[in-house]
This record gives sequence, C-alpha cells and structure tokens, in this order.
Amino acid sequence: MFYPSFKVHCDFCEKDITRYTKLVDANGLDTDMCVNCFLEGRQNEKHSKNNPYHVINRLTFPIYEDHWNAEEELLLIEGLEKFGFGNWIDIAEHLATDKTPEDVMSHYEKIYMSGKKFFASY
Ligand SMILES: [Zn+2]
Repeated sequence: MFYPSFKVHCDFCEKDITRYTKLVDANGLDTDMCVNCFLEGRQNEKHSKNNPYHVINRLTFPIYEDHWNAEEELLLIEGLEKFGFGNWIDIAEHLATDKTPEDVMSHYEKIYMSGKKFFASY
C-alpha cells in the first residue's frame, strides 16, 4: 500500500519521482529509484543491481479534477464493480484516501453521470 500524496525522491540522484514511474527493491528494503539510475545500474548498501525489483507506475496526476488523481479514479471504477453502484461508503474505503462517501458520490455524479467529461490542465 502506498499513499498518493507522498513525495518520493530517487535515492541515487535525488530527483523528485513522485509523479514518475519508479523502481523499488523487491527484497523489502526501502529503496526508490528513478528509471535513469536503474538503467545505469546504480547500487548502494540497500540495493544491489542484481536484486529483484518492482516497477511502480504512480498515477498521482489528475484527470478530470485537480483534487482527484488517476489512481483514485481507477479505484472508484474498481470499487463500483466490486461493491456495486451506490455503495459509496465501501467505495470510499476502497480508495483509502481522504475522500468521504459524499465526495465520491458527488464526484461520480459530476464526472461520470453528467455526460460531459472535462479535463484538468496539467
Ligand atoms: Zn535517480
């Protein structure tokens, strides 16, 4: 589980990779890497380039509204399929962010039921 509002920096070059694809060491040690450092084969005491790794594509950018990121949109749709339409309490819990059931319901009605999708500028 990771939290969308976290700032993540590459452990090697210090680049802010919050909004970018990153790699983490799969041995459970807390190492974050940007794609560039990974491709260069950089390593430290926590991460050897021979270790297994996971690729994490963080969906922290907004799609329709500035305060709703792509991950929350996906979890909303996934929650609807899993819990059924109208189960906003379960769906809000599924998001596991600061969104309340009322937030989820009004966002859904505004974006998905109004028939006119609009895009946030970023
Ligand atoms: Zn880096």
